[in-house]
Amino acid sequence: MSQPYRHYEVVSQLVEKAAHAISLDPKVMELLKEPMRTLTVSIPVTMDDGSIRVFRGFRCQHNNVLGPFKGGIRFHPEADEDEVKTLAALMTYKCAVVGLPYGGAKGGVLCDPRELSEGELERLSRGFIRAIAPIIGPDQDIPAPDVNTNPKIMGWFVDEYAVLQGRYQRGVVTGKPIIIGGSQGRDGATGRGIMYVIREAAAAFGVNLKGATVAVQGFGNVGSYAAKFLYDLGCKIIAVADIFGGVYCRDGIDPYRLKEHEMGTGSVKDFPGTAPISNEELLTMECDILIPAALGNQLTRENADKVKAKWIVEGANGPTTPEADEILKEKGVLVIPDILANAGGVTVSYFEWVQNNYNYYWSAEEVDRRLERVMVEAFRAVKDAYTERDGVDLRVAAYIVALERLAAAMKARGWV
Ligand code: GLU
Repeated sequence: MSQPYRHYEVVSQLVEKAAHAISLDPKVMELLKEPMRTLTVSIPVTMDDGSIRVFRGFRCQHNNVLGPFKGGIRFHPEADEDEVKTLAALMTYKCAVVGLPYGGAKGGVLCDPRELSEGELERLSRGFIRAIAPIIGPDQDIPAPDVNTNPKIMGWFVDEYAVLQGRYQRGVVTGKPIIIGGSQGRDGATGRGIMYVIREAAAAFGVNLKGATVAVQGFGNVGSYAAKFLYDLGCKIIAVADIFGGVYCRDGIDPYRLKEHEMGTGSVKDFPGTAPISNEELLTMECDILIPAALGNQLTRENADKVKAKWIVEGANGPTTPEADEILKEKGVLVIPDILANAGGVTVSYFEWVQNNYNYYWSAEEVDRRLERVMVEAFRAVKDAYTERDGVDLRVAAYIVALERLAAAMKARGWV
C-alpha cells in the first residue's frame, strides 16, 4: 500500500528548499517548522430530526510574528488536522509575500455541508465559533471564508462571537456581508488578484494576453471571478469545470452568462453552445493558461506529464504536488504559486479589518485600487527574487520573499 500523502511535510520541504537558497538562520526555520498552536474541538449539533451529531474541527495558528493570525475556515470531509496545519502554514507565507501585517492560521470542520440543512449548518457554524472563541479575537486571530464557507456563515460567526463577548466586534471575522461591515470587493478579490498577477507576469515575460486561451477548474468564489476578470482583459475562456463536470468551447465562453446558467441549474454543465469535458480532460487540455481554482492536489505525478498549458496559475491552495511541480518545471511550464496568485482574498480581508477598525468604509474603486497596488508590488518582489537567483522557480522565489520578511520580523522582535 502506498504511504498516505502528508501535506504538512511537503510544505516543510518546500520551505527548507527556499531557506537553503538564502542560508536562513536555522532558528527561524525551527520556529516555522511546527505551528504555534493547534486546537482540536468537538462540536455537538442538534440535527433537524432531534438527534445529536458530534463534528470534529480544528483551528491551527501557525505563526504570528508579523501580526494577528489570519486565515479562513473550510467545511469539508477532508479538512483534517494535517490539511488544516498545511493551509495555516501557507497563510503565514502568503501574508508575508503580500506584505500584510498578519500571521497565518486556518480552520476546518470535518463535514459535508451539502448534507446539512440550513438550520444544521447555522448551528454547526455557531458551535464552531463557541469552541474556538477562547483563541480568536480582532487582535488575536481573525477567521474568514474558505472552501464551502461564505459571507452568510461569516455573519453567523460574527454574531455568535458578539453574543459570547457581550459586545459587537466586527473585526473578529472578515468576508462578512457588506451590511454588517464587510468590504466592497471582497467577493471578487481573489479572482481579481489572480488577474493582476497574470497581467503583471504577461508584461514581465513579454506575453500578449489578447486572445490567450484559459481553462479554469472550479467555478466558485475564486474561479468564476478569475474567469470574468480575465475575459474583461481580452483572454478567451475556453473551458470551465465544477465538481459535477465541465464545459468546453474553442471559440470562447462568456463567463458572465455561464454564471447565470450555473446559478439557475446548480452547475456549469450543459451550458448552451459548449461540449462536455471532464475535470481530468480540462487539466490536460491545450491552452495558454490553466487555473486550478478548486481543491488541492489536482496536478499530480499521474497527470503532470500530460499538461499542455504554458502557465499554471494556482487559484486554489496547494493544487500542485511537489512531484508534479518537478515534472512541470522540466517541461518548461511556468507555475505562479498559490501564496502569490491567490493572495488577493486575504488582502481585501485585511482592508475589511482596517475599515472595521476605524469604522469608515471605502468605495469599490478604492478597494480595487489598493488591491492592485499590493498585488503588483508582491509580483515584482517575487519576480526580482526569481531573476536574482539561478535555478529558482517562482514558487521558491515567493517563499524566499516570505522567509526574508518573517526572519526580519523575528529578529526585530527578539525571537531569534
Ligand atoms: N481563505 C482565503 C485564503 O486561503 C482567505 C483568507 C482570509 O481572507 O483570511 O487565502
